[in-house]
Order: sequence, then structure tokens, then C-alpha cells
Amino acid sequence: MRRREFIKASAAGLAASTISTVGCGTSSDLVGDGRKRRILLHGGVVLTLDPRVGDFEKADVLIDGPRIARIAPTISAGDAEVVDCSGTIVMPGFITTHHHQYETLQRSMIPDGLLTGAWPEESYGSVVQNIWTAGRIADAADPNKIVWDLGRPPYDPEDCYISELVACLSEISEGITTGTDTSQSSHTPEHTDAMIKGLMDSGRRMVYAYSAGIDRSADGQAYEFPGAMHDTTKGIGRIAKKYFSSRDQLVTLGFGGGPGPAAPGADFTGWQLARAFGASIHNHNVGGQNIVMSAAADPRNGTDWSDVTFIHCTRWQKPAWEIWRDRGAHVSIAVLIEMQMRHGMPPLQQALDHGILPSLSPDVDTNMTTDPFSLMRGAFCLQRALANDLAFPETNPGQLPVPQALTCRQVIEMATIAGAASNRVLDNVGTLTPGKEADIVVLDAHSINTWPMNNVPGTIVTMMNPRHVRDVVIAGKVVYWKGKHVGWDVDKLLGQIEQARDRVLTRINGHAKSGQLPRGNNSFTGPYRPNFLASCCDKGQNTTSPAYVLRP
Ligand SMILES: [Zn+2]
Repeated sequence: MRRREFIKASAAGLAASTISTVGCGTSSDLVGDGRKRRILLHGGVVLTLDPRVGDFEKADVLIDGPRIARIAPTISAGDAEVVDCSGTIVMPGFITTHHHQYETLQRSMIPDGLLTGAWPEESYGSVVQNIWTAGRIADAADPNKIVWDLGRPPYDPEDCYISELVACLSEISEGITTGTDTSQSSHTPEHTDAMIKGLMDSGRRMVYAYSAGIDRSADGQAYEFPGAMHDTTKGIGRIAKKYFSSRDQLVTLGFGGGPGPAAPGADFTGWQLARAFGASIHNHNVGGQNIVMSAAADPRNGTDWSDVTFIHCTRWQKPAWEIWRDRGAHVSIAVLIEMQMRHGMPPLQQALDHGILPSLSPDVDTNMTTDPFSLMRGAFCLQRALANDLAFPETNPGQLPVPQALTCRQVIEMATIAGAASNRVLDNVGTLTPGKEADIVVLDAHSINTWPMNNVPGTIVTMMNPRHVRDVVIAGKVVYWKGKHVGWDVDKLLGQIEQARDRVLTRINGHAKSGQLPRGNNSFTGPYRPNFLASCCDKGQNTTSPAYVLRP
């Protein structure tokens, strides 16, 4: 018998809402301190993605404290809280590998903008990196001439904090249980600490990939990135000691420094610095295959690169891919962003041709959603579009071989297993395996727009979107329950991030240290503001967009 019970989240001090549960177990509190209790996910399709465990058309998953205890066609509930999962898919939480979470208050700021372009062209470089992040703009004709300088980054630490927190809760609602934060916003130690606190407060599993901010030491502000070997007073050494002394916690340490000198004049590389403090390595690489070659030529960077992920990897040629394959490194593809913003063609086929299953990343909220279903569909359709076009003599006159088309199952593995491997957490999550921690999403397939279900991977990749995410469990704790966050007042958070957006924009339009904020094409009311109703870019007439005649 099903019965509906209303129970209250008991977590101390949290603005808990009334939670309804459907179950046939006891009425104990599912959504309080979940780590101490046993939960039985009963009767769903179970996609473990672990070949040693197998997948099940119908099975039970027993969670005991933070871990998965057992997966079998039927498990006796005993004292476990039973959650009815009939009509659902129970699978590992999605895992992405690169997201600039501090930009969450700038959501969809420049949806038509390209990656590069000098002001007044509204590109990612000019709007997001210069105005909103650095607080200064260079002359379009002379990059050394600063035409406007606020004297500080427009964000305060509290603005970083709320962006990180909302990003994490947003992605929990989309079923992404682990992410990698590559926020390039460590302008001061206080900014860095606020970002880490935002991640830790969220309850989500994360890699904090410590990255450079804007050096404003000339304006009297402390700047500590990247730190130094054996130094725990600043930079990566400081945060490693303060926050990351254990790997047995939800948020672990990564590093954005590269394989060259860690800082100007340093006699150690960024990778050496990362490894000295136990951090995984997460580097951006847009069209930079030469960095791969020089990294390989420097013996200080070692030959086992299984702790290294390069993000984008666009426009690489064969020698760079061979090094990447031979040294066991990882690839993170921001498939939608790379297509949209001119990073180069997402290198799905090149990675696959070298035996590398890439992971997927959302990258920047300024231009695109983080929705993992969109990421999976983007990868699935792009690889197949390019491969399928080679099947015709008209579009493949050189008779290049037609690559094998990706399957839905492989794309799901990109968004789970490959992400876990890149984030160095595959021994703990990424598959549903007894003994691993329970990071699980329950997807509601019994829905007007997905039922009847005829193929499970296909339902996930070709049919679903975040509205189908019903429940999310992280380390055995229910953090999202029947389509609602547990323990968070979402309206309050939305108010806070809107206020943060307004604070940052007010600073941008405030008193500058030098120069005047140039009137962009969108500054039609005087103060700079993002365009709201028309195209984000170039007075609503994006000069890079094709001309056409409207035929009503
Ligand atoms: Zn990035």
C-alpha cells in the first residue's frame, strides 16, 4: 500500500519546507541526516554502468549511510526507508568537469557573443573577462592602453559565494552530483575562501580547481595565486592546508596552473606545484597543441598524466593526441560552448579515434545552460552529424572512412564514468557499485513526454530534460526530493543572487580609478547595462550574424 506522509526536514536551522514522501516503510525522516540511515530504492530500472554489477530491468538499491550496500533484483527492506522507484531510472549522478561557477550571476549575459573580440564588440573576452571580472578595458586598437579601470574587480567575495552556491544547487536539480569549479576569480584570499565556502555549503561533490584571478596588488589588494612549493602561507599551499587536508570529503582540490613555470621566474612548473599539494590538474587549452608538446619535453612534468585534464583540446593535430593517449591524460569537451563561441570544432572524433572517452563540461552560464541532457544530446548529435555526412559521395568526395556513430550508452558514460575519472573520484563514485558512495539520480520516466519507455539509454539521451530529475542522493544523503531542494529556501537564494548581480553592475557603473566606461553599443540609457530584449551584442545587431530578409 502506498501512503502519503508529510514530514519535516529536521536539519538544524535550515529553512526547511514540508516534504512529502511516498513509501511503504516507516515514517522516519528521509531528508534529515541521511548519512546515518538505510534507504532502499525499490523497483526502478537500475543502470549501474558497472559491467561487473550489470544493469537491471527492475531492481533494488540499498544505501547504508553514505555508501551503496547492495544491488539486486529484490532486497528485503529490513529497517530501511523504502522509496518507490517504479517507473523511474536509477543511475549514477551525472559528473561534469569544467564550469566557471562565479559567473552564475551573469547568466545568459552574452548568448550571441563569441569567445574573443575587443570592446566595443560584446564578446566573452570584453564583457565577461574585462568588464565583469577584471574591471578594466583596453583600447581595441592598442591592447596595452587601458581606457577604463575600476581599480578593483567588480565582484566582492560575497558575490562569488552566492554564485557558487546557486550554481551547485542548480546543477543538483539537473542531476549533476559532481562538478569541477574553474572559477577564475581568486582576486584576493577572501574571494578564494568565499568560493570554497559556497561549494562546501552546497552539499554537492566538487573539485575546486584553484585558478588565477586578477592581480590587483598595484591597487593595494592582496594577490596570492599561485603560491609556492613547501609554502602553506599563501596560494594553493594555504588552501590545501586550511580546507583540503583530507581527500575523504565532498570537496577536493584541483589546480588550474599549467605545465610551464608556475609563476614568472619560478623554477617549478604549475603541475609540480599542483602535485606537491595533492591537487588534480585542470588546464584550459583552446587551440594550444604546442603546450602539449612543450609539456612533454619538460621532464619535471613526469610521464604519467592520469591526473591531468585538458579542457577543450580544439584544433590539435595527431602528435598532440598521441601524447595525450600515451600518457593517460583526460579530455573535457564543452561541446555546446565550443560550437557556439568559436573555440574550434569540439574534438569528439579525435578523442574517440585515440581511444579516449572524453567527459563533458558546461563551461560558462554567460552563454549556455549547464543541463546535462543538453550536453549529452549536443555530443551525440554533433559526432553523428559529422560522421553521417561522410556516408554520402556528394559530401565525402575523398572517400574518407565513415566513423562509427556514438551510442546513447557511450554518451551517458561520458557524462558519468569519464567525468569521474577526470575528477579523480572514479574509485568512489561514477558507477553504482556496492562499496562506492551513493551519488544517485532517480529519473522519472513515467511522464507524459517519455512514456512508454522502450530503450533506457535512449530515453535518457534523446527524450529527457531536467524536469525528469525526481530525486538526487549525494553520499547517501537525499539532497533533492520529488523535484524540490531539501533544506533550502530557493526564493530567498534567487533574491540573493539578483541582489549580487545588481551590486556588481552598480560598481561597474560607479566611480572609476581612471578613464570612463566606454559607451558600448548596448549602453543606450547612459550607464552600461546588458541588453535585455534584443541581441546581447552590438546594439542588437550582431555584426557576425548573417544578413537576411525577413519574409513575414
Ligand atoms: Zn573554461
